[in-house]
Amino acid sequence: MNKAPIHYVVFPAHPAAHRFEVRCVVESPDPTGQRFALPAWIPGSYLIRDFARNIVSIRAEAGGKPVALEKTDKHTWRAASLKQPAALTVVIEVYAWDLSVRGAHFDETHAFFNGTSTFLRVIGQEDAPCLVDIQPPEGERYKDWRVATAMTPVQAGGDRRGKAKRHGFGLYCAENYDELIDHPVEMGHFSHATFEACGVPHEVVITGRHDCDMSRLCRDLKRICEWQIRFFGEPAPMSRYVFLVTAVGNGYGGLEHRASTALLCSRNDLPFAGMSGLPEGYRTFLGLCSHEYFHTWNVKRIKPAAFTPYDLERENYTTLLWAFEGFTSYYDDLALLRSGAIELKDWLELMAKTISNVLRTPGRLKQSMAESSFDAWSKFYRPDENTPNAVVSYYAKGALFALALDLTLRAKTDGRVALDDVMRALWERHGKTGIGVGEDDIRRIAEECSGLNLKRLFADGVSGTHDLPLRKWLAPFGVDLTLEVTATAKTPSLGVKINAEANVANEIRLATVFDGGAAQTAGLAAGDVLLAVDSLRVTPTTLDKLLARHQPGDTVRIHAFRRDELMEFTVRLDPPPADNARLAIREGAYPLRKPWLGT
Ligand SMILES: [Zn+2]
Repeated sequence: MNKAPIHYVVFPAHPAAHRFEVRCVVESPDPTGQRFALPAWIPGSYLIRDFARNIVSIRAEAGGKPVALEKTDKHTWRAASLKQPAALTVVIEVYAWDLSVRGAHFDETHAFFNGTSTFLRVIGQEDAPCLVDIQPPEGERYKDWRVATAMTPVQAGGDRRGKAKRHGFGLYCAENYDELIDHPVEMGHFSHATFEACGVPHEVVITGRHDCDMSRLCRDLKRICEWQIRFFGEPAPMSRYVFLVTAVGNGYGGLEHRASTALLCSRNDLPFAGMSGLPEGYRTFLGLCSHEYFHTWNVKRIKPAAFTPYDLERENYTTLLWAFEGFTSYYDDLALLRSGAIELKDWLELMAKTISNVLRTPGRLKQSMAESSFDAWSKFYRPDENTPNAVVSYYAKGALFALALDLTLRAKTDGRVALDDVMRALWERHGKTGIGVGEDDIRRIAEECSGLNLKRLFADGVSGTHDLPLRKWLAPFGVDLTLEVTATAKTPSLGVKINAEANVANEIRLATVFDGGAAQTAGLAAGDVLLAVDSLRVTPTTLDKLLARHQPGDTVRIHAFRRDELMEFTVRLDPPPADNARLAIREGAYPLRKPWLGT
């Protein structure tokens, strides 16, 4: 097997034009015509993104002479066969103006990239080690820029050197292409802080304008990370870990990697000096960090069989995303609670919010979690106005199923077995070994751990579309679930979701018309702009006031524009939905509760 390393050079060439120049040098190219490709998607984000669309130019050379390249599909090129053995160099220019955790972004203030946007895959040499020379942009204003990444720095000789060169430009290495594209890179003038969790060095890097209290953040992250490492068992599977955070005015997102995570957050969600308590925004941010960190085990190492290995050219279908995203969503908040980062009342609020979110999605009655996972590529990741009516979130319902499974295991084994044991068994059998998780393996492992027959629970929860009887399952743990009408919305319901962006224009544009609701029955549609209720003008601020003067069952006349055509509808108002879940602790001795929630 060919083990000569592939050499890459990343040069942020044109800050104002947002273009990287990336070189890829192959010592022993395929003599019949070496092929190169850029991934169609980035692992962790299940949508075909066709990163090669951002390649604005490509050329090849060998021995100082140009080599012809033929484009064979939307992301693949084949170099002409070389007459004599020689190193082959391909140079691409990549446009980088996507400020998300999934792409690449570059201007005068910073540069960020995922390898899926910049590094051509040398087809047939994916197992070869990779050496990357990360260069700074040219010019005085960039002379103090630093590099942050979980990729391993090397010295010129090619030995792994570790700490000495941290944050420096120069050579980095990865064992193979799979690892290469799993270490996003940030460069610029970032804030930086470190902490240790169970002996593993952790870094927090924040780019963008912010006033984050780094020591508070590190203190909170440390307890969350230590709890998770101990949960799966020491030693941690990574030798270091980097939180790469981009702070913006308004944003939210995260993408997991084997030894780092890329996060996008609102700067107001970061802690500030002198902050007291735990504001909701910061709680949300810690939840995001906890979520991506849990993925270090659950999905980056315990993987669906469909992802071992990833096929980067096309959709990778699995029905299991509920276990990788849903279970991770269950444990992200539970880790906050059990590590002491949040209190029980916070956790009850967060779990109740997840229950409410699922109840507000009519699609939960039509699509199962297994189907939602399989169709993530064309449905969950491509939301439109009908998504709430047709799709169930494998994150939210997956978290509820994790709760259901956890409660079932604990209740039926008298507290002997919990979902924690299933996660640790998954780690032992699939995480440590790298053996992919088969479509039925999670049920089988849960059954083996507990001795229970869980066919019915999995059939109902994973493949079924009925609501899970959570109230019944929570009762033996002394937790009461009630469903109420939202306190602020006791007005009769139209059965619509309003487009929040249109609010700015003082306009009520319907984002979604819920299945079976008053508006749908009357003929209103997504995109309609409401003008008047009973001949009085409505605005985002007056709609509820106008509706509040009515009772469920009353009929109102609504004028609306559909495109540029004025239309009139007679709407019979619905009762307000009782979809606001509340969880409360019942007084008394519930021996199953303490091992679960710790209190
Ligand atoms: Zn996730």
